[in-house]
Amino acid sequence: MAARPAPYLDDLNPAQRAAVEALDGPVLMLAGAGTGKTKALTARIAHLLTTGRARPNEILAVTFTNKAAREMKERVARLLGHTIEGMPWMGTFHAISVKILRRHAELVGLKSNFTILDTDDQIRLLKQVIVAANIDEKRWPARQLAGIIDGWKNRAWTPGKVPASEASAFNNLGTELYAAYQQRLKDLNAVDFGDLLLHVLTIFQGHPDVLEQYQRWLRYILVDEYQDTNVAQYLWLRLLAQAHHNICCVGDDDQSIYGWRGAEVGNILRFEKDFPGANVVRLEQNYRSTPHILAAASGVIAGNAGRLGKTLWTEEEEGEKVRLIGHWDGEEEARWIGEEIEALQRGHRGAPVSLDDIAILVRASHQMRAFEDRFLTIGLPYRVIGGPRFYERLEIRDAMAYFRLSVSPEDDLAFERVVNTPKRALGDKAQQKIQLAARSNGLSLLDGARVLLSEGGLAGKGAGQLRAFIEGIDRWHAAVLRGDNHIALAETILDESGYTAMWQADKTPEAPGRLENLKELVKALEQFENLQGFLEHVALIMDNDTAETDEKVSIMTLHGAKGLEFPAVFLPGWEDGLFPSQRSMDESGLKGLEEERRLAYVGITRAERLCTISFAANRRVYGQWQSQLPSRFIDELPEEHVDVLTPPGLYGGGYGAAGMGGSAAGIEQRAASANVYNSPGWKRLQERSSARPVSQPRESRNSVIDLEAVSAFTEGDRVFHQKFGYGIVTGIEGDKLDVDFDKAGAKKIVARFVVAAAQ
Ligand code: ATP
Ligand code: MG
Repeated sequence: MAARPAPYLDDLNPAQRAAVEALDGPVLMLAGAGTGKTKALTARIAHLLTTGRARPNEILAVTFTNKAAREMKERVARLLGHTIEGMPWMGTFHAISVKILRRHAELVGLKSNFTILDTDDQIRLLKQVIVAANIDEKRWPARQLAGIIDGWKNRAWTPGKVPASEASAFNNLGTELYAAYQQRLKDLNAVDFGDLLLHVLTIFQGHPDVLEQYQRWLRYILVDEYQDTNVAQYLWLRLLAQAHHNICCVGDDDQSIYGWRGAEVGNILRFEKDFPGANVVRLEQNYRSTPHILAAASGVIAGNAGRLGKTLWTEEEEGEKVRLIGHWDGEEEARWIGEEIEALQRGHRGAPVSLDDIAILVRASHQMRAFEDRFLTIGLPYRVIGGPRFYERLEIRDAMAYFRLSVSPEDDLAFERVVNTPKRALGDKAQQKIQLAARSNGLSLLDGARVLLSEGGLAGKGAGQLRAFIEGIDRWHAAVLRGDNHIALAETILDESGYTAMWQADKTPEAPGRLENLKELVKALEQFENLQGFLEHVALIMDNDTAETDEKVSIMTLHGAKGLEFPAVFLPGWEDGLFPSQRSMDESGLKGLEEERRLAYVGITRAERLCTISFAANRRVYGQWQSQLPSRFIDELPEEHVDVLTPPGLYGGGYGAAGMGGSAAGIEQRAASANVYNSPGWKRLQERSSARPVSQPRESRNSVIDLEAVSAFTEGDRVFHQKFGYGIVTGIEGDKLDVDFDKAGAKKIVARFVVAAAQ
């Protein structure tokens, strides 16, 4: 075939080009972050198509997320200069497996229209299986069993293949219940997520003719983020590739961050054994980050043992050092980052940076709340990637429904949401009866439920539990009317309703995160006078969303940031117990800690030009101050590549201190008594900071706690009020402002209850 021009080859370096042009036979591209693995993989697809080696439907390209698949398709189209008609086999393992399974469902006893259960359905079904086996579901919760079974499926163990060493799982009944669960799924013509891969494996292994067909079709296989494949995925790939060996995997052992979900770095090491003669390509030039950023990341990851090891270099200009800053507490951290982002946007630090080019990467999703609240307050547009925004999360909406009921017992939507959450033996039938009683008497659901009970319309366990639920609401409502402390009340509500206990009993991997989010919610209350003010605040900010097309700062977890890059990255919350996580620190052995360190490496290497790491000396948990130690990873940052910034709250005497009623000295004292200064990282920070000139108190235009700010406002300023939302200052009179609120109209307000907002 005549060679056609291939412009996409021109901007590859020789090593990348070799990997792209070696179209036949196994290729393993093992290289550090930002070395152009994904770029080369994409060029390889373009090359396969341009050279006519493969048609779009003959290429199997596995990405880690659906988003990555979409992006890859766009990039290929761009490289080729035209859109490609269908790349049916480009997607995640799950998406591709669904396609295969639909065609051959009957081979595993399913019909092709099988349903895919979500986690809730899966749990419900497991519960039935547990109850049917006469096991106390309270002692042996379904969620725990779900975790065990998922783990087995990740290892490609069907019920018959679970090894004897696992026999003691779930009170010795794990294997038996697993088999029963699989049978139930089959009866229902359903699969869970883990089944998608497992069934395809079973089909491939049991039906060589089917496997051969796919081996013939899918002649070229490409896999991105190979380091995060689990055993089932690995076997799946190996079966497909073993006929033609045209498999190209790219990955980085230092970025393996899904060990907790069954991923095995060993798969990379096994590659050369399984595919002898593999062309192993190493890429060493990083095109993403400045030398300081790269050196900082390399310094941290060097702390891990047993790495494959690699060098990275870059031709980029030196740029800025990685910035490190400590804050008094998490709120101040969020405030500072908000101001930094605004400064970047306005071009106060070189050329203006688009918000789309800025990301905040957190270790745990509950950290997002402080940023979301802050950004909503100052009107800084943001998007949360890879999950709902804080106030849209399931557990937050449930908890808010309880708060709403306590403030307004006639809130029927809230009633419906939580009447049977946690379970109170009030199924659909019982709830219909409540609806009917309410409607026919023209009452709220709560009062309808009272009538129903008094008329004896509900019997059994449900009646007793409904009565307790109603009594609860009455009690909490009375407390609201009395003006009891709203923070303590919120905790009481979550306790007495059984809502917190529900998640405590929950053994799924998500449960600890949900509990953290609930604590975070209670923490958010501290900035408000009462529950009502808080509920209005949330209702207002939820309403204040900006259009989808606008520029936005991205907030996401470190896990979700894999493969992405941003010119400016903020990495907050580098504190022991948060990052590295408490769980990884409590573990015996270093496995968990090493995975956290890889996560730190992933985080730093997302940054192109500016990387800012921060930590707080204190975090509030349930209204209690908890002192935090700076992350051990901070000690591992090579000093010569780090610039330590002066913490505004501690040394600048600025806004961070005022809210806690503390002078800088007072804070030092508190921090000292909290033992914060005893950590080596903090000491080092302190030494360096005091060696620098003390910065002037910063302007505190956004500070909620800036009590003396009356003169800071002038007519025409845009402000935000907890209860009334956004508005414009129309007049000033002593400490009072006339404000024309967008929604609430004209009001006179004490100046200290509003904050300045973006115009
Ligand atoms: P990660 O491990 O984080 O997934 P990666 O190895 O997949 O990183 P890419 O995302 O493919 O790296 O590339 C990182 C950046 O470097 C991208 O912006 C890409 O366009 C650029 N890049 C890669 N190779 C080259 C090259 N040869 N010349 C110029 N830019 C390049
Ligand atoms: Mg990549």
